[in-house]
Amino acid sequence: MQTLSDLPALRAAVAGLKADGKPLALVPTMGALHDGHMALVQEAKRHGRHVVVSIFVNPKQFGPAEDLDAYPRREAKDAAMLAAAGVDLLWLPPVEVMYPTGFATNVSVSGVSEGLDGAARPGHFDGVATVVTKLFNQVRPDVAIFGEKDYQQLAVIRQANSDLDIGIDIIGLPTQRAEDGLALSSRNAYLSEAERKAALALPRALGEAKRLMEKGESVESATAKAMIILENHGFWPIDYVTLCDAVTLEPMTVLDRPARLLGAAKLGKTRLIDNIAVEPK
Ligand code: AMP
Repeated sequence: MQTLSDLPALRAAVAGLKADGKPLALVPTMGALHDGHMALVQEAKRHGRHVVVSIFVNPKQFGPAEDLDAYPRREAKDAAMLAAAGVDLLWLPPVEVMYPTGFATNVSVSGVSEGLDGAARPGHFDGVATVVTKLFNQVRPDVAIFGEKDYQQLAVIRQANSDLDIGIDIIGLPTQRAEDGLALSSRNAYLSEAERKAALALPRALGEAKRLMEKGESVESATAKAMIILENHGFWPIDYVTLCDAVTLEPMTVLDRPARLLGAAKLGKTRLIDNIAVEPK
């Protein structure tokens, strides 16, 4: 596996990978890799003859009071995992390569970016859309793989890819979970032992609300019960537990079409998110 950090070298290496005309797959990440990321890599190998993984902790998607400095960084371990998984190229750009002095462009996706994490984390999805557009232009893959763990992010990227005629095949992979059901996340590393146990309340609360709604209980009542479960396990503040249209992410008050229940809340200093499909009768 090659590891590259400057753009001319990346362009040359990508041209080499593409020379056989076979599909190239990209997996964008922020590193601190876990089995969820590695499942994306395996999916990438199913779709691409060649696989590029990027690791870039993108300052533009962190708010001023968020965890940019604390975000776990373990590039050497990550690189070893990716090499062992058969990845062709690790793209590891430094911040000054991604955002050189004078960088002035912002990619902003309206609509799907605006509620949920877009409301709780102002500017977050502009940062995501901008960096992913840049990664797409740098690597020019045929296919890119993202996790449903970040369901709104996936919707934002699909929208930008379509609106800007980027033309990459965007694949969403179901959320990979620990044995007990907690969604794998680089931020789980922040949790104390007691918090790790309490964190399970997030998938459980969403699962319970899903069960209630699919049984006919109102969206309002079921989501309120999910929030109570979260509060009872120490989550606070709760940014949202919201049922949304599975495609547009518009909030829904009645379960009358395929939906997604999304939740975000803080446990101690760690902000966790999760989501689950909810189907109408
Ligand atoms: P991150 O490094 O957290 O920015 O995530 C990089 C990619 O991995 C994104 O497409 C995430 O949605 C995806 N991802 C993170 N955690 C999981 C998970 N538990 N299951 C599936 N995909 C994930």
